[in-house]
Amino acid sequence: MKNVVVVGAGHAGVELVASLRENGFAGRIDLLSDEPDLPYQRPPLSKEYIKKPTSAPLLRPAQFYTDNDVRLHAGIAATAIERDARRLLLSDGSSLGYDHLVLATGARNRLLGLPGIDRPQVYQIRTLADVRRIIAGLSGWKHVTIIGGGFIGLEAAGLLSTMGVKVALIELAPRLMQRSVSPTVSRWFLDYHQANGVQFHMERHVTSIEETSSGVKVRLSDGIGIATDAVIMAAGVIPNTELASDAGLHTDNGIVVDSSLATADVAISALGDCASYPNAFAGGRARLESVQNATDQARFLAARLCGRAGSYSAFPWFWSIQGAARLQIAGLGEAGLTEIVRGDPASGKFSVFLFDRDRLKAVESVNSAADHMASRRLLAIPQECRLTPDQARDATCNLKDLVSSVQQAA
Ligand code: FAD
Repeated sequence: MKNVVVVGAGHAGVELVASLRENGFAGRIDLLSDEPDLPYQRPPLSKEYIKKPTSAPLLRPAQFYTDNDVRLHAGIAATAIERDARRLLLSDGSSLGYDHLVLATGARNRLLGLPGIDRPQVYQIRTLADVRRIIAGLSGWKHVTIIGGGFIGLEAAGLLSTMGVKVALIELAPRLMQRSVSPTVSRWFLDYHQANGVQFHMERHVTSIEETSSGVKVRLSDGIGIATDAVIMAAGVIPNTELASDAGLHTDNGIVVDSSLATADVAISALGDCASYPNAFAGGRARLESVQNATDQARFLAARLCGRAGSYSAFPWFWSIQGAARLQIAGLGEAGLTEIVRGDPASGKFSVFLFDRDRLKAVESVNSAADHMASRRLLAIPQECRLTPDQARDATCNLKDLVSSVQQAA
């Protein structure tokens, strides 16, 4: 293989090009980014970067791209794939031929089709440009309304409330982070944010954003109007799949790839937030939105492109920082699992072990980094040797010792 072209310079694209070089790939690498900035990390954007925007949280220093002979095309989008010719068309009118094409196009914010959504008081948190807009406006804000009670909305709520901004948060579902965490963890974070002054409007949706003399009013489905200085949209994301689907590749909540991250076209692979892949932990296809998923898939794919065979099977984990609280998740939970709580939620430090009958599926740790690290080790061993519900329930039993004993049994 003489050259690889990578579309998208987020966590997946940048880790891929770095890993290709680490694996000894000596051919030409082109990395396309439709954003003008040097590639940067997204997690700090809803966390410390808003508070301390000293320098952009770059994924790699500028020198990395020259040192590794990676041709970074910043501010250039891929507009179409000519599969027969193995050529990619670019927004500046040029094109690039490829031996292998990697789609690392990520996701974009879901925009609700609401009256008033295009008002200047409405903000997003996905890109560095989005967050620069927030930072520029922030000093004039006394009240902010956040739409969406998932990780990013809650991280923004946690941050802004500690900066003295009054926050209202609107969530359609009956509980926070409903798709991703257990009811116990949802409840704990609701109490935590409420104690910091965040006002929640659960099971409501926004019907319009109306202009007022001093700002905007967010109108809710129950008729309530919230007067606010700014609105932050955090209502989830949709994968960037159009480049693939326009080229005739299969997409279904993501670009569909097999367990080696290949599409049906042997010359095209996809990974990261934009890819739907067979995930043994989910028991079916999954499209994960996490740094771990993007970077582990990138390392796997780089090794495959350099000749190593195998299937992608990395163990999923995730973190979120909300105010002073840290949530870490090992494994993938799902609705209806049995919860076993270790530690006392009232102390602010605990973990929830999630079982499907006697099979440990996931562990959610709040302010308990040691539990999280132990859980990642526990979940990495064969299912039949993992912790049992009785062991998890036994509060006298030290988790570290349990890990050692089940590891020995494995
Ligand atoms: P992206 O980072 O979305 O990168 C894709 C890039 O491709 C983008 O720059 C996009 O503009 C570009 N692109 C798309 N189409 C084209 C095209 N046609 N031509 C050229 N370029 C194109 N995960 C965690 O695990 N923990 C966290 O705490 C956490 N916090 C987060 C906070 C925020 C504010 C956000 C937005 C995300 C957070 N995430 C977190 C999720 C994590 O950042 C994503 O899972 C990760 O960025 C996915 O990487 P990616 O490379 O697949 O996609």
